[in-house]
Amino acid sequence: MNAADIQELTGLVREFCEERDWDQFHNPKDLAIGISTEANELLDLFRFKSEEDMREIFASTDKKIRVEEELADTLFFVLRFAQMNNIDLKKILEDKLAKNGQKYPVEKIKGKNLKYTELD
Ligand SMILES: [Mg+2]
Repeated sequence: MNAADIQELTGLVREFCEERDWDQFHNPKDLAIGISTEANELLDLFRFKSEEDMREIFASTDKKIRVEEELADTLFFVLRFAQMNNIDLKKILEDKLAKNGQKYPVEKIKGKNLKYTELD
């Protein structure tokens, strides 16, 4: 995804919210709550699911749509949080990937799921 794509998505979210006069409700705290709430709705779809259950979710059009909707809800709040607080999502993701690249050098972490503090 390039910066133009992110700007386009952010524009869609901003337009949606401005048409509804929602700027007044979208302070950082409530938008952060929105990110967390929607991410947890996504998580809830996988509660108590086995590996086989999870494969079934993605094999079922209806169940996969539920996952996609919660993911979209989460993305909505991420985009809205960034838009309302003048945060450049492309820049912060690139910066964080660079930082995490230092913490997780490919030669040390490839094929492992350890926390960086556990690497030698
Ligand atoms: Mg939702």
